[in-house]
Amino acid sequence: MALESRSPQRPDELVAEFEEAGAEAVAAAAGRARAAAGPWAAGSALERSAALERAADALAGAAPELTGLMVREVGKPVTEAGAELSRGVGILRYYAQQALDPDGETYPGPSPAGLLLARRRPRGVAGLITPWNFPVAIPLWKAAPALAFGNAVLLKPSPDATGLALRLAELLAPALPDDLLQVVPGGAGTGKALLEEVDCLSFTGSVAVGRQVAVAATGRGIPSQAEMGGLNASIVLPDADPERAATVIAGAAMGYAGQKCTATSRAIVVGDPGPFTEALVAAVQGLAVGDPAEEATVVGPVITEQARRRVVEAAEEAASAGGRLLTGGKAGDGPGWFVAPTLVDNLDPGARLAQEEVFGPIAVVLAVPDTDQAVAVANGVGYGLVSSVFTGDLDRALGLAARLDTGMIRVNAPTSGVDYLAPFGGEKGSSFGPREQGKAARDFYTSTRTITILPAEG
Ligand code: NAD
Repeated sequence: MALESRSPQRPDELVAEFEEAGAEAVAAAAGRARAAAGPWAAGSALERSAALERAADALAGAAPELTGLMVREVGKPVTEAGAELSRGVGILRYYAQQALDPDGETYPGPSPAGLLLARRRPRGVAGLITPWNFPVAIPLWKAAPALAFGNAVLLKPSPDATGLALRLAELLAPALPDDLLQVVPGGAGTGKALLEEVDCLSFTGSVAVGRQVAVAATGRGIPSQAEMGGLNASIVLPDADPERAATVIAGAAMGYAGQKCTATSRAIVVGDPGPFTEALVAAVQGLAVGDPAEEATVVGPVITEQARRRVVEAAEEAASAGGRLLTGGKAGDGPGWFVAPTLVDNLDPGARLAQEEVFGPIAVVLAVPDTDQAVAVANGVGYGLVSSVFTGDLDRALGLAARLDTGMIRVNAPTSGVDYLAPFGGEKGSSFGPREQGKAARDFYTSTRTITILPAEG
């Protein structure tokens, strides 16, 4: 079946057309990947490191081209798209170095003259299923460690970002042995076929799909990890500067039209919400909305017409549930899937908009009387990816950090933003399986082999 991706800002513009890989094509790709994985794992870590460095150079050389493609295919504002390319290069270089780290540990054995070793070994063929919103960084933060530790990779990108995935693989190909990194284009059917062929599966996307993927992987007895949605809260304490907090939260909620798993969807204000709410509305209204190719643009379109409808309907439903529309709530004029950045307050924390991810430029302001209530509201959702706290009081910040049920907690910082050097992942519905990124990635892409060696005599 032929699939296509279109530019969200100019839906008439076809960006990529591709054939969906069926079960047979996926099995054939897996066979080639398995053949490539053997010599790659048997080769030296120095060779793998050098190959990843060459891949980083290739990506750096093509950064302007891929940035432009990212702007066109997924509507990411050009400044953010450029930063994502730089991050992709950084990720490849970081795992090129990690390939050279010690590959195991020694333990006290049964005899001082003997050795008890636990050495890392690759799993074989790593399957990656990725979303469209970080079309370079997410495939790379999975593929780079998988390759560094000796695996082959089969990537099934989102159909909405397949042009980028195919070009990325083409650019990296000369740096790597044949068939070591392959793209299998397609939708859900291709993802399911991939699950049947690989030795481990790393997924990023929605909660509904992530859970299905984890169940299917477990049914086959292969390890899986799933990074899924978020409903991230920023807590603003009474001592915080409302204007500064509002500026940071506006960017985290609405940048890239709120289409980040780490976007802020809930601002929880302790005490009088007035000054902060006023500052937030002003900050959101001041964000540049428009063509993502313009350097000043912060908020571009959402990915599809359906995504735009979801935002408008969520605003309407919140208003009918008693919420006050502070700004936005309307689809933009003209072509492209634009929707005005939207803020709602006066909602009950149990309202749908305060409980479910919309994945667009929409956020709620929730007022609470004290810190205990702030923690209860922040934790009172099914997600647990990231939260942030705004305060100058380190004791209170640390106290809150210990009580917030999210995988990442950021103080005086936006919920959005990922440090690839550190473990990344959430709690509750946001994540399943071991963490990604940083040194944590090795645990997923390798297994251990425990070896006992005793002296032959004595
Ligand atoms: P999605 O779940 O619709 O799709 C993700 C991937 O899964 C795509 O490649 C899709 O083709 C594939 N897929 C769909 N159905 C499948 C099935 N039954 N079996 C196997 N594969 C299947 O998500 P999306 O719309 O592409 O991305 C948006 C979502 O991703 C949001 O919920 C967002 O929060 C989440 N996200 C999470 C993180 C994170 O690190 N936690 C990062 C980015 C995005």
